[in-house]
Amino acid sequence: MTSDLRDGGPVPGGDWDRAVGLVSSAGEIALACHISPDADALGSMLAVGMALRAAGRRVTASFGERRFRVPRLLRFLPGQDLLAEPGDYPPTPELMITFDVPLIDRLGTLAANAGKARELIVLDHHASNTGFGTLNLVDPGAAATAVLAEELIRRLGLPIDRDVAICLYAGLVTDTGSFRHSSTTPQAHLMAARMLDTGLNPEQIARELWDRSPFAYLRVLGAVLDRVTLEPETGPGLVWTFVTRADRAGYGLPYDEVEGMIDVIRRTDEADVAVILKEDDDGAWQVSTRSKGAVNVARVCAELGGGGHAKAAGFTSHLPVEETMARLRALL
Ligand code: 5GP
Ligand code: MN
Repeated sequence: MTSDLRDGGPVPGGDWDRAVGLVSSAGEIALACHISPDADALGSMLAVGMALRAAGRRVTASFGERRFRVPRLLRFLPGQDLLAEPGDYPPTPELMITFDVPLIDRLGTLAANAGKARELIVLDHHASNTGFGTLNLVDPGAAATAVLAEELIRRLGLPIDRDVAICLYAGLVTDTGSFRHSSTTPQAHLMAARMLDTGLNPEQIARELWDRSPFAYLRVLGAVLDRVTLEPETGPGLVWTFVTRADRAGYGLPYDEVEGMIDVIRRTDEADVAVILKEDDDGAWQVSTRSKGAVNVARVCAELGGGGHAKAAGFTSHLPVEETMARLRALL
């Protein structure tokens, strides 16, 4: 493999060396990913956790959610026995590493632990990362945080076995949209090749991530599609819908199961921007936005208290659907 296809982005080699030094000398290593973890956040964290544990290191991993629960979709990821409730997390970690977390608030309750960590390594690929660590390994050019997690494991000299590779591959394949997004670089495919080389089963991972759901999903999707609205005149075209707690309760569908619905909505040719508002079990609206490129939805969502990437971002709203949409329209 040529070195230019291998080398990472703008993270200086010296920073990697410092990270390796910190990890190597720490007695206990506390790992954390963002709340409502996706495959990249959880997968990157579990991959590093498993690699460290196999090397005999003391590791804790968590995410700071009041109702600490791994989404059903991600329960196939190996290494979940590493997870601890946020209440059992070291209050003043000697060394803490965060995964896929662009700003400290996204750590939820673990933001307090991060604030007291002696050393805090931030591993992330969000361009919006605020650099809240004592050491920030941030590469916006990386297709996924999993790319940086692989690099860290490699630089620590630790092996990547099949279970570690499953976690890294899940992050890579999700954040590249199954190698469809512009983040699909030659490096991304080369990383996929390295992961497949460990013997993982990409068909099985794809089925877990995208190709299964309870029958109730189809019923709720039907309701959600029934009320989808196209506004070709709003900004560069907007398509949007919402899914309520009542929609889900009617069919006993858990909140996690509606995460993928945005991928149906966003295919609409007539709209650059797709939005779905998802009412969670607490009655808050988790808003997912996607753009084909005309609008930077990360900037729009940041205005509304959220964040994300230019083409995939989100925020939380406590306003009624129409008020949230009015604020969003104004920004488009
Ligand atoms: P999704 O729509 O898949 O939940 O999230 C897409 C992107 O937006 C992810 O990169 C995620 O980190 C970000 N995102 C989603 N919800 C929020 C939020 O409430 N706050 C922030 N800062 N980012 C979010
Ligand atoms: Mn990510």
